[in-house]
Amino acid sequence: MSNIVAIVGRPNVGKSTLFNRMIQRREAIVDSVAGVTRDRNYGKSEWNGREFSVIDTGGYVRGSDDVFEAEIRKQVELAIDEADVILFVVDVEEGITPMDEEVAKLLRKVTKPVLLGVNKVDNAMREKDAVEFYNLGLGEYVTFASTSGSGTGELLDALIDIFPETPEPTQEETPLPRFAVVGRPNAGKSSFINALIGQDRFVVTDIAGTTRDAIDTKFNRFGFEFNLVDTAGIRRKAKVKEDLEFYSVMRSVRAIEHADVCILMVDATRGFEGQDQNIFWLAEKNRKGVVVLVNKWDLVEKDTMSARDYEKKIRKELEPFTDVPIVFVSALTKQRLLKALEAAVKVHENRKQRISTSKFNEHMLKVIESYPPPALKGKYVKIKYCMQLPTETPQFVFFANLPQYVKDPYKRFLENKIRENWDFEGVPIDIYIREK
Ligand code: GDP
Ligand code: GDP
Repeated sequence: MSNIVAIVGRPNVGKSTLFNRMIQRREAIVDSVAGVTRDRNYGKSEWNGREFSVIDTGGYVRGSDDVFEAEIRKQVELAIDEADVILFVVDVEEGITPMDEEVAKLLRKVTKPVLLGVNKVDNAMREKDAVEFYNLGLGEYVTFASTSGSGTGELLDALIDIFPETPEPTQEETPLPRFAVVGRPNAGKSSFINALIGQDRFVVTDIAGTTRDAIDTKFNRFGFEFNLVDTAGIRRKAKVKEDLEFYSVMRSVRAIEHADVCILMVDATRGFEGQDQNIFWLAEKNRKGVVVLVNKWDLVEKDTMSARDYEKKIRKELEPFTDVPIVFVSALTKQRLLKALEAAVKVHENRKQRISTSKFNEHMLKVIESYPPPALKGKYVKIKYCMQLPTETPQFVFFANLPQYVKDPYKRFLENKIRENWDFEGVPIDIYIREK
């Protein structure tokens, strides 16, 4: 579980330039492998070994020329709700504007850590100009220039410094699978959860989130025990009435990061769209288990579209990670809800499974022997040993004499072979090739 940093600030202060700088190195690596559509305003970053998520809140209002103060205000409020740390960016060129003052006013009341970053400090002269930002009443600030990158190291140092402590969960604290129900507005998330809860609301017990303010709700249904990660999205639904994509993304991020398995609800009458893909990608990127529920199946004319055709279409959208259970449900008629839960429980088991090193070698070395990595520049690659790493999510390492010669297509081949032999349905897996 990593910390979530939200970058807030009025338009044109340089939020997206900074955001791109923060996620650049990692994104490049991921892009070359996956090449799928992604949310440009969410990414993973790392500094001094601390991994965290970054959300550029400004990115969600881009494209519209008139960004109203009210809109920014809502964004800041949501960031305050959903993020762990808020990075408030201002622009030394412009100085303090009324909108900055508005934002500062909101942030002064917040108990979460806030960092003030003064951007566009391209030279020593501007360093002096930055002093005026003390007037925002947010205390110390960090100056930087996101275009050149100068000062961004110090900015990240300061950011890491104010991260809330995230205690390692002890073994006893995490026995139950944690499911998050995610999806676009109106996909049927609340209906699904209500259908699970049924009349029997009092089976529900709230236990404070182990680390932060997310709340787990414990369920015992159909013989399954699990925690639903009840995020602001569900609990505080009434607070923000507008069903803007922005809000659903912010909420998804938080829910996904707290979950083991994400139950992605898709509206069958709308199909699998870009935003569904983004949420799916968020789950995959965070190495969470995924189950896709095609909801409102009661509304679909079965002679025009069979479940099989529908499933084929969705799998196409999920590429390259297609080994995912897809269940057709109706929260309204309660059709196949048990099956949906079973799928989520199974994915959680798949994600937890550990393959013994001897069994893994026995199978995979045979596979590799009959289809070795292609020789490169006349050199033969030899893989003599492999194992599953003792990590929280499934990761496999293959030791080779020339690891840099093992390219992505062969890694995908290895992944497919692992999936053929062991059940990792719904679970993203990582393959590493290392020098022996
Ligand atoms: P956003 O609307 O807050 O996301 O701002 P952008 O990242 O799109 O940047 C707005 C403008 O400010 C762009 O023209 C950037 O090139 C410029 N800008 C961003 N960072 C710096 C900086 O460090 N120095 C200078 N001089 N300009 C910058
Ligand atoms: P949320 O925004 O994802 O929480 O979606 P809701 O649970 O509020 O559902 C949005 C709308 O879709 C409501 O009017 C629900 O009654 C309706 N709905 C949800 N699930 C189903 C379903 O399986 N079948 C039908 N016909 N309608 C549904």
